Amino acid sequence: MYKTLNEEGKLPYTDTQGLKIGYMTMVGTAEPLDEDTYEHLKDNFTHFSFVIGKDKPYTWSTFTVPGKRICWGVQMQLNAVNLDGSFIRNIEWGPEGNENMIKEIYDYATPYGPLGQFIDKTPRDQISRVFLEEKMFETWYYKRTVLIGDAAHKMLPSAGQGAVNAMQDAVILANCLYDIAYNATEQNITTAFMDFKAQRYPNVQHQFSASKTMARVIYGQKWSERLLRFIVFRLLPQSILHKNTIKDGAYRPQCMFLPLAPNRGTSPVLPQKPSKRYQEGLEAATV
Ligand SMILES: Cc1cc2nc3c(=O)[nH]c(=O)nc-3n(C[C@H](O)[C@H](O)[C@H](O)COP(=O)(O)OP(=O)(O)OC[C@H]3O[C@@H](n4cnc5c(N)ncnc54)[C@H](O)[C@@H]3O)c2cc1C
Repeated sequence: MYKTLNEEGKLPYTDTQGLKIGYMTMVGTAEPLDEDTYEHLKDNFTHFSFVIGKDKPYTWSTFTVPGKRICWGVQMQLNAVNLDGSFIRNIEWGPEGNENMIKEIYDYATPYGPLGQFIDKTPRDQISRVFLEEKMFETWYYKRTVLIGDAAHKMLPSAGQGAVNAMQDAVILANCLYDIAYNATEQNITTAFMDFKAQRYPNVQHQFSASKTMARVIYGQKWSERLLRFIVFRLLPQSILHKNTIKDGAYRPQCMFLPLAPNRGTSPVLPQKPSKRYQEGLEAATV
């Protein structure tokens, strides 16, 4: 789609540019472990630990998951640079690069001892090392093609929002397509895609920015980022952080052509744009 738009001179300049890369991550899940050695594995909830390196560009985390397993991950802050796709493809991603990074992070402390013990229990071919890319694309659709999820907006995983937003896209897109019913003319499809983008863009933009800020807070090692971290973790009242979480959680889109799931929690839910077609169907059924 982008290639076609570019050839036709219709692609906005920002969409011709590469994704921004500021961090790299390495992740894995250790094979099942002995729960007498790792007592946290006996609990039926997750134990999560996150360590921010001092004087090193790394942060690392561990968390327990079902099946007596522990996931681990390391993030490295790179100098924020713009790399285009060809540069990324040329980078050496072979086992040698992985081993160099493993050597560097092997002795980092976790609540269970050195991180390396989990790396040793993770098959090497199941360890992933990727750049964390980010970009808000402006072009989300063209003719009968529409993009959702990372293809339209790739955000940093620091706030755990990438997959969430991909699913929210899917729900809102389904709502917009439902409303054009079986009348899938090019004009109606464009109207549905425009509506989809209009409904989603502000929310995605908000989560994109929040993920960027969160990455600076939890991965950043520049002095300004250390200051930001100090403010967030030491000075900002917990009540403000809590209020923000509640506010963000209020956006919970649902399929408007199905009976709505009741709100069983205590926090509010934002109202959604009703489906005209569904309302008409309900009214017709009651006549
Ligand atoms: C380390 C890390 C941690 C994360 N943690 C979280 C988290 O805690 N919470 C959260 O919400 N999100 C998290 N994310 C982000 C989340 O993984 C992504 O936002 C999400 O997977 C995006 O889903 P998607 O379907 O848009 O794209 P993808 O998951 O990338 O799916 C696209 C699929 O298309 C396939 N594909 C690509 N090209 C082609 C082709 N030409 N033909 C056919 N198939 C093709 C790919 O193989 C892939 O399977 C994390 C990401 C990373 C890297």
